[in-house]
Amino acid sequence: MASAIMADAFLHLMQRGILASVCAAGLVLATTASAASKDASPASAESNNKAVKLGGATMSAARNAAPQVDWCQRFSARLASLSLETCRQSGLTPSGTLSVQGFPILHRQIPPVKSGKSTPPVRVLLLGGIHGDELTAPAIVFKWMQWMNQGAAQEFHWSVAPVVNPDGFLTNKPTRMNANGVDLNRNFPTPDWHQEAPTYWVKRTGRDPRRFPGKQPLSEPESRWVNDEIARFKPDVVISVHAPFGVLDFDGPVQPPRKFGRLVFTPVGVYPGSLGNYSGLHKKVPIITIELPNALAMPSEAESKKIWEDMLTWIQRNVSQKPVASPIRQVVAK
Ligand SMILES: [Zn+2]
Repeated sequence: MASAIMADAFLHLMQRGILASVCAAGLVLATTASAASKDASPASAESNNKAVKLGGATMSAARNAAPQVDWCQRFSARLASLSLETCRQSGLTPSGTLSVQGFPILHRQIPPVKSGKSTPPVRVLLLGGIHGDELTAPAIVFKWMQWMNQGAAQEFHWSVAPVVNPDGFLTNKPTRMNANGVDLNRNFPTPDWHQEAPTYWVKRTGRDPRRFPGKQPLSEPESRWVNDEIARFKPDVVISVHAPFGVLDFDGPVQPPRKFGRLVFTPVGVYPGSLGNYSGLHKKVPIITIELPNALAMPSEAESKKIWEDMLTWIQRNVSQKPVASPIRQVVAK
């Protein structure tokens, strides 16, 4: 037993050593130059193949570990920028919802540190990794979690899930979709989903398997968890991190952000079943979609910090009060 644990630990350390050298080059995972590909998708996932196999070896070795440590071992084996210690210190616990393959969706609520204000704290729901092959998204959410006890972040009440789609993220070759082959970001119950989402998938995407919206809205445990968390936590703003388009998108009833770091506000479209459409337009909860510029290579430390600080400032200025729900406006908007 002890030797098995030592073997696991050795394999893990060896793996971390390999990945750490990659990390020095600013990459989340070992990959080829085509990782900078503008489209996230099949191309960058292919280019990632080699590194993913390395990660798979570590994951196999970690399977025998105790469940309590297995989550962070698997996350840190996948992300060179995430140490085992940082993952454990993030304080994530199982949300109670399991992915299709039985991996817990890990979550943490962080109440505000500062108190005594007459107004209630702004509630921020921060999500990473709805698309499993956009590895920089969970990586930067883990990084930001380390800064939540500093500066303006302490004023907010946070609900954080860095890896919403753990199956897509942890599988040997990461996938945009969950283990049922559903694009979770097309599975939210926007109005007229049954008419619009399947038709859009067939006619506009040519049945692209990477954009399959599912057979029903909220057919997937991962999208149901996000939907339930919106209902439970009642966020004033949702931040959803993606890659690799290098822009900000925004939906909702308040002023859009202009720029976070080098990311400039550029609407990328409204899709049936997307979280932006559902939260921002239907539920009237403002949502910022952060599209990092690369799915595999992290922004620099300075840029990660600038995006974070600009985001906090925007929230302070624009989401300091709960948007007043207006039933009349909602009816008109439809
Ligand atoms: Zn995405």
